[in-house]
Amino acid sequence: CRAETSVMVNACTGKMGHAVAEAVVRAGLDLIPFSITGESEAVVVGNVGVSGIPVQLVGADKRQQAISDIMRDKPGLIVVDFTLPGAVNENAKFYCDNGLPFVMGTTGGDRVQLTRDTEESGVYAVIAPQMGKQVVAFQATMEMMAQNFPGAFSGYKLSVRESHQRTKVDTSGTAKEIVRSFQQLGVEPFEVDAIQRVREAGQQMGEMHVPEKALSGHAFHTYHLTSPDGTVNFEFQHNVVGREIYAEGTVDAVLFLASKIKEKAEQRIFNMVDVLRAGAMR
Ligand code: NAD
Repeated sequence: CRAETSVMVNACTGKMGHAVAEAVVRAGLDLIPFSITGESEAVVVGNVGVSGIPVQLVGADKRQQAISDIMRDKPGLIVVDFTLPGAVNENAKFYCDNGLPFVMGTTGGDRVQLTRDTEESGVYAVIAPQMGKQVVAFQATMEMMAQNFPGAFSGYKLSVRESHQRTKVDTSGTAKEIVRSFQQLGVEPFEVDAIQRVREAGQQMGEMHVPEKALSGHAFHTYHLTSPDGTVNFEFQHNVVGREIYAEGTVDAVLFLASKIKEKAEQRIFNMVDVLRAGAMR
């Protein structure tokens, strides 16, 4: 599917968007040299370089024209969205209205509405707030453990710490999901607001061992379980430096989606577990 697949990344001005666009080029896919972005940026910045390719920024008022032109030239177009939670539903609606398959990596927004709009439009989409394949595999494994062995960690005391770049204000959605599995596994009452958010550089480097160069982009999670009598300890940890894992996972999602479109699959909306199940990893 690679040769026929063209990818538009919105927005290449963002940290994730830029990393994904670079991964698209690395994978040998056709990167569309246009990117839909926030209005003011399109006017002020003009274009942004991705691996030597000047990508023209398109503001909201010109996006319909730009998309119509691109779709005419590139029938195998797939859009990737890494924008902001406030833009999720509006952008998805725009892709749906244009019959454009998309990979939605952006978190937040109204997720129920997002699924409903996508279903109603009939477009193919991968919607995943976590694109890191190995993290998703871990998350899914914990869920399976909880389903298969409910109460296996009955009475254990849980503590959770997650460290992310200072600009991430909310608690990690992935950590919240994993806590839900631990709840089913029977740990002592633990609510998601007990997850410790670490955002201070000294603590990140000193206690969580985050490398200094990763302070502006990392995801370090530690889940610690202690038995009621304190004689047994379990620790699960996933420490991600940078954004490459998400960017590469997104390219896998694009290739997976391209193959589903090609085979005219009945199912049209997928998540990263579907991508993993298909063995669709390079
Ligand atoms: P960022 O602030 O660096 O980039 C966001 C970009 O979106 C900016 O360039 C901004 O101009 C642009 N934008 C804002 N409104 C827009 C609109 N209406 N249309 C088009 N573009 C618009 O943020 P980031 O760190 O790149 O994160 C982006 C999103 O990706 C967040 O929701 C984050 O939580 C999510 N994320 C998801 C994963 C994953 O694995 N799925 C991984 C990391 C981050």
